[in-house]
Amino acid sequence: MSTITNLVYLFSAVLFYFGLKNLGSPKTARRGNLLAMLAMLVAVLITLLDQKILDFTYIIVGLVVGAAIGAVASKRVQMTAMPQMVALFNGFGGVASALVASSEYFQLGGHLEGSVLGTIGVSVLIGTITLTGSVVAFAKLQGIMKGAPITFAGQQFVNALLILTAIGLGALLIMDPTNWMLLLGIIVLAGVLGITSVIPIGGADMPVVISLLNSYSGLAAAATGFVISNNVLIISGALVGASGIILTNIMCVAMNRSLANVLFAAVGSDGGAASGGSGEQKQVTRYTAQDAGVMLDNAQSVIIVPGYGLAVAQAQHVLQEVAQILMDRGMDVKYAIHPVAGRMPGHMNVLLAEANVSYDLLFEMDAINDDFKNTDVVLVIGANDVTNPVARDKKDSALYGMPILNVDHARSVMIVKRSLSVGFAGEDNPLFYDEKTMMLFGDAKKMVTEIAQVLKG
Ligand code: NDP
Repeated sequence: MSTITNLVYLFSAVLFYFGLKNLGSPKTARRGNLLAMLAMLVAVLITLLDQKILDFTYIIVGLVVGAAIGAVASKRVQMTAMPQMVALFNGFGGVASALVASSEYFQLGGHLEGSVLGTIGVSVLIGTITLTGSVVAFAKLQGIMKGAPITFAGQQFVNALLILTAIGLGALLIMDPTNWMLLLGIIVLAGVLGITSVIPIGGADMPVVISLLNSYSGLAAAATGFVISNNVLIISGALVGASGIILTNIMCVAMNRSLANVLFAAVGSDGGAASGGSGEQKQVTRYTAQDAGVMLDNAQSVIIVPGYGLAVAQAQHVLQEVAQILMDRGMDVKYAIHPVAGRMPGHMNVLLAEANVSYDLLFEMDAINDDFKNTDVVLVIGANDVTNPVARDKKDSALYGMPILNVDHARSVMIVKRSLSVGFAGEDNPLFYDEKTMMLFGDAKKMVTEIAQVLKG
C-alpha cells in the first residue's frame, strides 16, 4: 500500500475521530455525522483508486444500487423504527466483514500464516453472530417475532458449547489450513449462536442488544482489517467496537442493570405491545384540554417530560408551540430528558431538535431531578416507564432499580396518553392514580394542539 494511501487513511481516521467526538452533544451531532460520512467517503474512494480489486463497472453498479436502497430506506423509516433499521445495518456490517475475510481465505486457498487464519476465524465468527443476532433483533422489534423472551432448558450451556466448539474449529483450521469445511463449520455454529443468544432477550431490552451487536460489527470489521492489512478498516472497526460498548454501558447504567442481567436474565415484555395494565379497574379522573390550559395559565414553572408517545404522535412541533406561549408569558419552562426515554439513546434530543427546541432548555435527569419538587406543573407527554415510581421500591418490578425522573415530587402532574396502558416494560404506573395527577386521554398531537388553542384563547 502506498504512502499516499496510508496518509489519506490517516486523514480519514482523524475525521472519524472528530465525527464521533461531535456526536457527543446534540449541538454538534449533525456536524459529527457529516464528518463521519466524509471520512467513509474518503476511505472508500482511496481504497478503490489504490487497489485494482474489481472492474469499475461492478463498483459503480454496486454504489448506485446500494446508495439508492440506503437513501430510500432512510427517507421512509419512521424515527420510532430506527432501532430496527440500525439492527439491520449492523447485520449487514457483520456479514460484509465475514464475507471479506472468507474471500481472502478462499482466494489464497488457505495458504496463510496461522495468525491470519486465526483472525479470519475471529472475523467470520463475530461477523456471522452479528448477522443472525441482528436479524432476530430486527424481527422482534418489527413485531415479526414475539418480543417475549424465548427460553429452553440448558440454553446457556448450549451457547457455551457452540462458542467453544467454534473456537476449537478455529484452532483446527490453523493446524489444517486447507480444510475449508472447518471454516464452514465456524460459520454454521456462529449463525446458530447469534440466534440462540438473542431469542432469550425480551423486546424491552432489544435497544441494548442492538448497541452491543453494533459493537460486535465493529470488532468483526477490525479483525477483517487485520486479515487484509487495511489500516482504516482496523481503526474505524475499533472505533465502532469501542463506542458501541460504551453506549451499551451507558444504557445499562441508565436502566441500573448489568449487561449480564440484560443478556441472561430473560426479562422484558413484548416490546410495548402489551396494553391494559391492571390499573384499568382503578379510579382516575379524566380531564380536558380546557382544564389543562387553565392550570398551565396559572403556573409559574413547568417541566415537560417527553417520551416514546411524543415520537409516535409526532407532537414535537405543537409541543414547542405550547412551550413558547408559556415562555412568552414569563413562565420558567424546561424539558427533562431521561437517558432511555424513547426507543434509543438521544431519541428525545433528536425529536426536539427537529422542532427547533433550544438545547439550553433540555436538562438531563441528574441535572433536573432536584427541581421537580419546586415545580408547579409537570407535563408528561407519551412517557410512562421513565416516570414510574415503582422503580424506586417495588422489588419484583421489571423496572426496579431504574433511575426515574422525580415527576411525582412536583406540585401537580399532567399526563397525556391515550389510555391507562402500560409502557415498554409492561408495568402499571401508580402515578396515573395519584390525586395530584390530571390524566389527559388522547393522542399526544391532538391533545397538545387543543391545549395550544386554549392557551391562545
Ligand atoms: P414507554 O414505552 O414507557 O411509554 C410510552 C407511552 O406512550 C405508552 O405508555 C403509550 O401509552 C404512550 N403513547 C403511545 N402512542 C401515543 C400517542 N400517539 N399519543 C400519546 N401517547 C402515546 O416510553 P418511555 O419513553 O417513558 O420509556 C422508554 C422505555 O424504553 C423504557 O422502558 C426504557 O427502559 C426502554 N428502553 C429505552 C432505551 C433507550 O435507549 N431509549 C433502551 C432500552 C430500553 P398509551 O398506549 O396509553 O397511549
